Amino acid sequence: MIRVRFAPSPTGIPHIGNTRTALYNFLFARHHGGKLVLRIEDTDRERLVPESLPKILEILKLIGITWDEGPYIQSKRLAIYQKLAHQLVDKGKAYYCFCSKERLAGLRGQGYDQHCLKLTPPAVVGLMAKKTSHVIRLRVPDQGVTGWQDLIQSRIEFKNELIDDQVLLKSDGYPTYHLAVVCDDHLMKISHILRGVEWISSTPKHLLLYQAFGWPIPQIGHFPVILGPDKAKLSKRHGAKSVLDYLSEGYLPDALLTFMVYLGWSYKDNSKLLSMDKLIKIFGLEKIQTGNPIFDIQKLDYFNAKLIRQLALPKLIQLIKPFLKIKISSSLINQILPLIQERLVKLTEINELTEYFVTQPKIDAAAILKESKLTVKETIEYLEQVVKTVTNVVDWSVASLEAKLHELQAKLGLKPRPAFMTIRLAVTGRSATPPLFDVLYILGKTTVIKRLTYAQKALK
Ligand code: GLU
Repeated sequence: MIRVRFAPSPTGIPHIGNTRTALYNFLFARHHGGKLVLRIEDTDRERLVPESLPKILEILKLIGITWDEGPYIQSKRLAIYQKLAHQLVDKGKAYYCFCSKERLAGLRGQGYDQHCLKLTPPAVVGLMAKKTSHVIRLRVPDQGVTGWQDLIQSRIEFKNELIDDQVLLKSDGYPTYHLAVVCDDHLMKISHILRGVEWISSTPKHLLLYQAFGWPIPQIGHFPVILGPDKAKLSKRHGAKSVLDYLSEGYLPDALLTFMVYLGWSYKDNSKLLSMDKLIKIFGLEKIQTGNPIFDIQKLDYFNAKLIRQLALPKLIQLIKPFLKIKISSSLINQILPLIQERLVKLTEINELTEYFVTQPKIDAAAILKESKLTVKETIEYLEQVVKTVTNVVDWSVASLEAKLHELQAKLGLKPRPAFMTIRLAVTGRSATPPLFDVLYILGKTTVIKRLTYAQKALK
């Protein structure tokens, strides 16, 4: 039975790269009909950020990652780790260490010097009787190598002489990450440990612990580390944000899902949008890259725009409503959306792209003159002709607006681009909009005439 785990430390809200580990474990479990265990590794009390746990759970839910067991909370399992650590002491695989902080500080850089390993049993009993503060350390063999066949990377080995007699249980009774992770992976019957390469240097310590306990060793794989565009490990400094941030910026869950899954895994040309159902069918560790993926936010924009273009209009309307900040009627939005769907990258852009439909835009006289290629006077006269033409349009439709304004442009001997760009700038205040005649049609005769008159005044 395949059993994997996602084991976040609640030390902050994870950015999207960190959520990838959860996604890969989830997909691996679901693909193989296995189980995903959620475990909260909160034993580092100094780095604990209490608000982060609910956020982590919310992120998993919004992306569609479900788990089968847990969340197990390590800080509620202290007695288990304490008992197991003492068992190792009894077996001679671990020992009490009474060294003071000051003494350890003096050793910096050279690792623990096994000072307390040399204490005689009566000396230990004496120190314990005096309630001397102490930790439990693993007795790491001085010789030999510890290695494993990584599921993703190649074989990895470490010399034991380079591995410290690491602390397992701290003086406050809390386990270190190493002790807790090994005990829990064993007790929770984890078959595959899948995590980021930043944990590779911890793995030999874990393997030595499995040996000390006499436990079978799970399969182990390490995902490549995601790099920022500057090739440094991805961080918030690179603009990497949490799934929650991206969602509130108007990215869709499936775009985030696709973007995230490609950060270290490939499928054909990596440009396809992938749904969770599809991913569960096709995901496998063999397609995990060993090279380090680069975080490129433009790819997220690409997937989001692509997904928005594929949405049926009613669905898009439903998704976009919560992002509307401007006052605009539903019927107007329904008319505008089909025209801007192609251009939308993020749902939040709806405000910027529809604002001029409901409020008089700022008019940039210089921009109009640059496009009209006429003098101020001529431009004002041209706009006056446009007002007249528009006023005379009887059946207000896209087709008649187009016909009449083309007629005018030809009659005045103007080129189409300056003729229509002038109208666009005068009416909308911007040079990029959906097709001009559609925009005029939606605005309606009264508003179009008002805006043309306003622009004439602005030009004076
Ligand atoms: N608690 C570790 C983290 O925050 C998990 C390491 C592991 O997966 O073993 O990422």
